[in-house]
Amino acid sequence: MSLQQLINELVRDVPDYPKPGVMFKDITPLLADHDGFRAVVAAIADHAHGRIDKVVGLEARGFIFATPVALALGAGFVPVRKSGKLPSETFAATYDLEYGTATIEVHRDAFAPGERVLIVDDVLATGGTAEAAVSLVRRAGAEVAGLSVLMELSFLNGRDRLKDLPIESLVTV
Ligand code: IMP
Repeated sequence: MSLQQLINELVRDVPDYPKPGVMFKDITPLLADHDGFRAVVAAIADHAHGRIDKVVGLEARGFIFATPVALALGAGFVPVRKSGKLPSETFAATYDLEYGTATIEVHRDAFAPGERVLIVDDVLATGGTAEAAVSLVRRAGAEVAGLSVLMELSFLNGRDRLKDLPIESLVTV
């Protein structure tokens, strides 16, 4: 079975979550499957281009993939968290949601100048979260080497907001 088939089999569609009309991609069956989880982590690490000093995970599901990818690449892990969760000084970025806004943060001293960073998340949807994360990493003085996601929801055109950024998605829906 190909990796794409494995992911499509192990990621479950949950209709009307978190609200009516949304088809939510639930990764928990994939995480519970040792072979599937291991294959996904290995593939994300394999697709990284060039030297990676830090892997950034986006709260919360991004953490699950970014941490083993960091270990596989010999890189450190940096969390990008929702507002108010990081204890030291932060940079913050606010972006639009369908209703309202969200704010994410990174520690100001998370990176050494010029470090190369891979951003990892589970799902790329509208691209708002990833775009905000890219701006945070750049403000903190690092270079964004790329974005890697398990699944890209192409009908939401997230890629269009992330022009010039190398994006790897293991599965495109
Ligand atoms: P975006 O900002 O619209 O690209 O949404 C991406 C963020 O929302 C990511 O951090 C995902 O974890 C989360 N997300 C959006 N849709 C889904 C989904 O269907 N399954 C799991 N996470 C999702």
